[in-house]
Amino acid sequence: MSHVYWILILNLWILKATSLQPGSRTVLREIGTGGSDPKDYGVELNATNFDGVLKDTPATYAIVEFFAHWCPACRNYKPHYEKVARLFNGPDAVHPGIILMTRVDCALKINTGLCDKFSVSHYPMLFWGPPTKFSTGWKPNQEKSEIREIDNWRTAELLLNWINKQIGSSYGLDDEKFENEQLPSNISDPGQTAQAIFDVEEATAIAFDIILEQKMIKSKTRASLIKFLQLLVAHHPSQRCRKGSAEVLVNFDEFCPLDMWSSDKHDVPTSNLKEVLHDFQICGKEVPRGYWMFCRGSRNETRGFSCGLWVLMHSLSVRIEDGESQFAFTSICDFIHNFFICEECRQHFYEMCSRVTSPFKKSRDFALWLWSAHNEVNERLMKEEASLKTGDPKFPKIIWPPKQLCPSCYHLQGPKDKGTNQIDWDQNEVFKLLMSYYGNTLISLYKGKGVLADGRTNATLDDLVTSTNAVVVPIGAAFAIAIASCMFGALACYWRSRQKSRKPRRSWN
Ligand SMILES: Cc1cc2nc3c(=O)[nH]c(=O)nc-3n(C[C@H](O)[C@H](O)[C@H](O)COP(=O)(O)OP(=O)(O)OC[C@H]3O[C@@H](n4cnc5c(N)ncnc54)[C@H](O)[C@@H]3O)c2cc1C
Repeated sequence: MSHVYWILILNLWILKATSLQPGSRTVLREIGTGGSDPKDYGVELNATNFDGVLKDTPATYAIVEFFAHWCPACRNYKPHYEKVARLFNGPDAVHPGIILMTRVDCALKINTGLCDKFSVSHYPMLFWGPPTKFSTGWKPNQEKSEIREIDNWRTAELLLNWINKQIGSSYGLDDEKFENEQLPSNISDPGQTAQAIFDVEEATAIAFDIILEQKMIKSKTRASLIKFLQLLVAHHPSQRCRKGSAEVLVNFDEFCPLDMWSSDKHDVPTSNLKEVLHDFQICGKEVPRGYWMFCRGSRNETRGFSCGLWVLMHSLSVRIEDGESQFAFTSICDFIHNFFICEECRQHFYEMCSRVTSPFKKSRDFALWLWSAHNEVNERLMKEEASLKTGDPKFPKIIWPPKQLCPSCYHLQGPKDKGTNQIDWDQNEVFKLLMSYYGNTLISLYKGKGVLADGRTNATLDDLVTSTNAVVVPIGAAFAIAIASCMFGALACYWRSRQKSRKPRRSWN
């Protein structure tokens, strides 16, 4: 018996030692830092996370470089590829959210099938296309494929020229953040609106982080956070934020017990909460991503969070039922009042909330109230930003929706069209627009990517992360696991045979 015990100890020791080797990686590190070298911008993919990562990226295009780590030409090419990836990948990207640049090492056994699927015949081989289309693979001379082989990639300059030709841009290798911005600003392009879903997720995650960082949960604000979380659980347009909010809500009393504010403990709680939740991200592991899509300003300090927050509020307002409209109104008003860290904004917004005298009975009325409150802010800021020059020159404040986006929202066209109050709106048309803009259009990208369309797909990435971690367990560790489990089996058999050979105990039932 004792030698079985010692073999078991030895194997567990091997398992521990091998799992601590520098080569042991988790897929999270691979996605976050680009795999083998943490300084890499290119994201290293493998057969297990390939579809999930490409499905999940907010980027409009992806490049996949198939290479082999032993191939000298690939090693020499890497600095060129990295120079371009610096522009597009990660939170510090110069032009974020446009192209996801990835690589797959075909010399790893795990990737053999994946490289075959793309008919990889030499290294490196680069492909371009919409991220979701990569799941189908590529064959030479295949007609109608949206995945294309890149034929002119040999230097960073050539690759960037090729990209510029495809998307009509003029990016340069020396571009720095907020320089040479080529932000799309076609207000009536549904493709651009659809990208706002990523900003709604970003704003939700940042709002939650700020609440924890700034220790904003107090005895008098706790209830309003619970109410707002309830609204998010039911109606957040992103499924992963709904799930995360539900998790916080379900565990709220443990995270933040009511007696935290008893006389001897007042107002310490969020430090504890931060500790308890330190790794928890309300919209999933990938969010916040560190950049904005629809809400990206042409300057560092413009747009971003407050834009994402408005889009979140509008998207909630079009998802509630009549019976929830007053609840949604008070939840949003209280949330902004208690947790929006811009003093002027929250005071002004609360003043608008206080002007509402009778409770909302229709969700339509609430959605239109929020729309007109937002326009009131726009109107005020239009003047302020014009005189102080603090606005974003590419995104000046406007009374929304402009005619270009919704001609039918305007009853009369005339010289009086200068502010919300003076425009003769067709509110039925405005409501219709709000419903489609913040309703289906907002989630159309997700639907297209299959993230929200069916409840299972979102779990896929989480599942993938877990299962990929299992795949990248080093071989030594896997071997040790196998031996250890055999030993456990042997131990169990031995124990059971000893049990059988004993006299049966008396049973009381
Ligand atoms: C509750 C709240 C109160 C604020 N109060 C102030 C304040 O007092 N002072 C201040 O300086 N800043 C305030 N801000 C910030 C300010 O309103 C803008 O969010 C910020 O200046 C960024 O502007 P933006 O150009 O990205 O567009 P945003 O005004 O943030 O709008 C985001 C997007 O919503 C859409 N949109 C615009 N208007 C409407 C509308 N009426 N209905 C529906 N959709 C619309 C547009 O597509 C727009 O791009 C506030 C923000 C919030 C969330």
